[in-house]
Amino acid sequence: MSSVLNGLGVGLNAVVAEVFHVAPTAALPAWSKTSSGVAAESEILKSAIASVSADLDRLGSNSDETSAEIFEALKYLLEDESLFDMSVAHLDAGWSAGAGYGMAVNEFSEMLAGDAAFEERIADLQDISKRVQASIAGIHVGLDLPATGAYVIVGDDFSPADTAQFTPAVVGVITVKGGPTSHTAIICRSRSIPAVVSVAGAHEIPAGTSVLVDPVGDRVVVGGSLSDATQALAFADTGREPLIEVRANVGSLEDAEAAAKTGAVGVGLFRTELLYLNESSQPSVDRQRDLYASILAAAPEGPITVRTIDAGSDKPVPFLKMPGEENPALGVRGYRLIQDHRSFIEDQLKGLEAARISTGREIWVMAPMIATVQEAAEFAALARSLGEFKVGVMVETPSIAALLPDLAGIVDFISVGTNDLSQYLFAADRMNPSLGALLNPWQPGLIRTLERIASQAKAAGIYSSVCGESASDPAFAVLLAGLGFDSVSASRSQVDAVRSALAAVSADQAVALAKLVLAAKSAEDTKTAAVAALSAL
Ligand code: PEP
Ligand code: MG
Repeated sequence: MSSVLNGLGVGLNAVVAEVFHVAPTAALPAWSKTSSGVAAESEILKSAIASVSADLDRLGSNSDETSAEIFEALKYLLEDESLFDMSVAHLDAGWSAGAGYGMAVNEFSEMLAGDAAFEERIADLQDISKRVQASIAGIHVGLDLPATGAYVIVGDDFSPADTAQFTPAVVGVITVKGGPTSHTAIICRSRSIPAVVSVAGAHEIPAGTSVLVDPVGDRVVVGGSLSDATQALAFADTGREPLIEVRANVGSLEDAEAAAKTGAVGVGLFRTELLYLNESSQPSVDRQRDLYASILAAAPEGPITVRTIDAGSDKPVPFLKMPGEENPALGVRGYRLIQDHRSFIEDQLKGLEAARISTGREIWVMAPMIATVQEAAEFAALARSLGEFKVGVMVETPSIAALLPDLAGIVDFISVGTNDLSQYLFAADRMNPSLGALLNPWQPGLIRTLERIASQAKAAGIYSSVCGESASDPAFAVLLAGLGFDSVSASRSQVDAVRSALAAVSADQAVALAKLVLAAKSAEDTKTAAVAALSAL
């Protein structure tokens, strides 16, 4: 017997495997001072260390010999007396137990840094630091995922810290929450893990049940087999170059290496904040230079578009303290962080310039969440004063989308973040599973806004691109070319599918498709019009 649960599909491939339910990890709290005193905080730290030590014993006794040795080595570092003494010095200065331990570990790591033999020790130290801080905050760390086998994991939603822990056994993902542009969706698309998000009722599928994850069909079929999977549109290989350039979205060295194996021309979106999701202190300019340089060196040939930090809301970065906000998606996020964290944005640009010089790569920089022409001008002036970059802004707010003509002469390029633009255009939280239909990129309200952006950018002499998840849909990418965008940037796993679609159409065909889509009046009709036009090629 099979039953069908509908959601929003991510990716083009289907998978069948058993369901495994997981509880996600909460983010670590920001470091803070406390008035409880050094004696009380030392006791808190001692008992957290004891409890993590007991956890490591338990993990060690349940694992193979090699893993047991690793846990033993972690315990050795955990119980290091000089590390404890360094922490107490911070507690003396008024920091809480978690903060003091985190700071001491960072100092310790810095002492070991630079020596290749200690690289792994540093990673171990940071792991221990996280475990101790989590224990103090009462947070369970680790998803406890199986390391072997093949499972479709089911959870409410997965944070960046959670997805970083996905093991090779994760062959499919189902979430109850999260929309088509949630972090889970972005990561799964980039790693080619078939996923269906926004699936109400997924928690009710009993663990161990075999399910078909059918992303093209936007559904999960309980008891389904691969032969039931919905097929994606296929494009014959024409041997031609795509109508417009296809770049890749990356967020890590692994992404950059994988993107270099595709036909991507450069990078259209490097999400720098993904490098810092587990960092508890601000990385130095030199450290940033090294991180960026390794990614720039590995990235596909062509310009590399780097976005300055887009922390806040769905992307928490521990060392950037965020104000507690009622509605973080409408709060101090993206470029607005310049209010309290100007030094970090400046350090990013300095680190990037140093990486540009050491790698010889062409770098375009852009700021996220720009709402006014003044912000765009301020960012452009700052970026140009710190490096030899092409400078642009993301178009993610309805305000800046309405001001394109005024950006003439201020920026070299724009890149439309349709994930956020949809969220703000439709006043629909991108994490709210009940609003997935409004976040569907095929909504006429978004498409007509995109048409205006592309034509006004062209008139203003500004290069235009789209790097939101919508550009990873091959049919949507053809629409974007027909609307007049100069390039698209797709998730690395989708680059070649998007390239094939863009190579299968002529410029006239893309424009004709865009006309049909612009005339349609609902999200169903726009998509149907595009798919019909492409199927008739
Ligand atoms: C977007 O908003 O479309 C975008 C590309 O940025 P992010 O998804 O990282 O917010
Ligand atoms: Mg965005």
